[in-house]
Amino acid sequence: MSVSSDYPRAARLIVDLEAVASNYRHLQTLSGDAAVAAVVKANAYGLGAGTIAHRLIGEGCTDFFVATPSEGEALREDLGAQSATIWVLNGFDIKQASAFEAAGLSPVLNTLDDVAAYASSGLTPHFALHFDTAMHRLGLSDADALTLARQSVSPALVMSHLACAEQSDHRLNVSQRERFETIASYFPDARKSLANTSGVYLGDEYHFDLCRPGIGLYGATARTGQKHGLVPAARLQAPILQIRDLHPGDTVGYGASYRADRSLRAATVAAGYADGLPRALSNVGWGRIDGVGARILGKVSMDLTVVDISDCPDAAVGDTVDFLGPDLDALAVAAETLPYELLTGIGPGVERIWVG
Ligand SMILES: *Cc1c(COP(=O)(O)O)cnc(C)c1O
Repeated sequence: MSVSSDYPRAARLIVDLEAVASNYRHLQTLSGDAAVAAVVKANAYGLGAGTIAHRLIGEGCTDFFVATPSEGEALREDLGAQSATIWVLNGFDIKQASAFEAAGLSPVLNTLDDVAAYASSGLTPHFALHFDTAMHRLGLSDADALTLARQSVSPALVMSHLACAEQSDHRLNVSQRERFETIASYFPDARKSLANTSGVYLGDEYHFDLCRPGIGLYGATARTGQKHGLVPAARLQAPILQIRDLHPGDTVGYGASYRADRSLRAATVAAGYADGLPRALSNVGWGRIDGVGARILGKVSMDLTVVDISDCPDAAVGDTVDFLGPDLDALAVAAETLPYELLTGIGPGVERIWVG
């Protein structure tokens, strides 16, 4: 069943594919001789895994990381005949063997049980071994590495994940890298991968054979306030449904948490926390009309938010207020969260429009 578009009575997410491609090229330049994969788990951080991957294949990307087999199956279906390696980060369960086989997925094995299950599956082996080098989240241990090397287990890729890459002077970066180098040396024929987006910025020693950026492709880093040369790739475009004048003493929204201390012009826009505009942005966040700031007045509600458009005298019903975009990092700070959570929080029901 095709559903008609709710725009211009609901928000939509505008995804700039040329921005994603340009970010990929920028990260590739920074990565030197290393290849650059694309991490497209959680529907490419909400931006649309199939469309993004298709575009990045055009930029020369051959490796994609998803979290789950079903994400992998969906991506394989979207990519059709195009060749790409799809790595599944969350390990391997024998019950999912047929999904791995049918969609041609390559598991990232995180435990000895994963390795045993995969060996018993009868699948043509093509897998990664993920080692824990201090994050203590997923991954095999140093002792496991020796065990597996002695058994002549031969991964196509060995990888680990940095815990503190966004802090370039954090002592864990060097110690994780050294630990990874030791482990990786047991598997001389495998490709090696350590760096996420922030890891790419740590320099050559962190790049190995394959970098694995996610958030950087989508225009942000977690390195708040540092220059990164990436361009914003997504904006939540919220149409104005109604405009009114507020007078001193008027309040806005649930709980009357905003009270006007002067006359101003307010617009009610079709975006709220169900769309992914966090309630934590109430009274502290902002959007933009043609680049001009429009601060949020009162509480963000489920599908609606009120903004101050006093600086945009020409704004009219049907015009749009953009959220996120170039403000993604700063709004994440204002909401006391991360750009990752803002992007993945965009409601699944929000229409995605891909441009560029
Ligand atoms: C999510 C993830 C990445 C990508 O991290 P970014 O910080 O978004 O670049 C890379 N590697 C692993 C193992 C991940 O889980």
